[in-house]
Amino acid sequence: MRKKIVAGNWKMNKDYSEGLSLFSEVLNMVKDEVRGEQQVVVCAPYIHLHSLSALAKGTNNVFVGAQNAHQEASGAYTGEISTGMLKSVGVEYVILGHSERRQYFGENNELLAKKTNTALANDLKPIFCIGETLAERESNQHFDVIKTQLAEATFHLSAEDFSKLVIAYEPVWAIGTGVTASSAQAQEIHAFIRSEVAAKYGAEVAENTTILYGGSCNPGNAAELFAQKDIDGGLIGGASLKSRDFVDIVK
Ligand code: PGA
Repeated sequence: MRKKIVAGNWKMNKDYSEGLSLFSEVLNMVKDEVRGEQQVVVCAPYIHLHSLSALAKGTNNVFVGAQNAHQEASGAYTGEISTGMLKSVGVEYVILGHSERRQYFGENNELLAKKTNTALANDLKPIFCIGETLAERESNQHFDVIKTQLAEATFHLSAEDFSKLVIAYEPVWAIGTGVTASSAQAQEIHAFIRSEVAAKYGAEVAENTTILYGGSCNPGNAAELFAQKDIDGGLIGGASLKSRDFVDIVK
């Protein structure tokens, strides 16, 4: 059975005390809700991670994630944070390839392949984001874009390593815009992603790959999206900043 995950992506929001309050509220409300193969992951800014992972420690299925990490293991990279540092404060997941990192920080598939390797070498699980822009969808290139992102950044991995990834389909035109992909549009791409994984790694790996949807997911549309056969949960931006909304999505 593949894992079902709702992951929050706070992005560059919440100061230290606001972050602690938000996480504590979420933890109290979800700790008895998530069980078995279900997980909640909160991807917070770096400064919160040590404290949040200490709070999450006593729970079963709540984990803390980072939103980025450097591709090198250590060294003279002023201002950067390594995957080993993240692991040392109890972080379990790291978002890689988010469209904001691709757009504003020039991260491309080649760099993301390196980041994926380094994260896995330090036992961090990547939540690997892929997705097309509006122009790419309108010119009917979305399947090709997804295929290339997956192949160039992740298909060099062994089947064993690929199995440690969570994939997040996030159409760029749906992120922070209030425009959600319809459940049919999302399901179509999720099924395509799973078929690409099956073609590369076989049916068993594909069946066990958790594929999240992200992009204007909220308490009003989550249930329908998550009911689709190939949608295994969500990566939640804006709605993860309010404990009630995030917990409603988890429920
Ligand atoms: P959004 O962001 O839910 O605010 O659209 C999703 C994401 O960027 O991960």
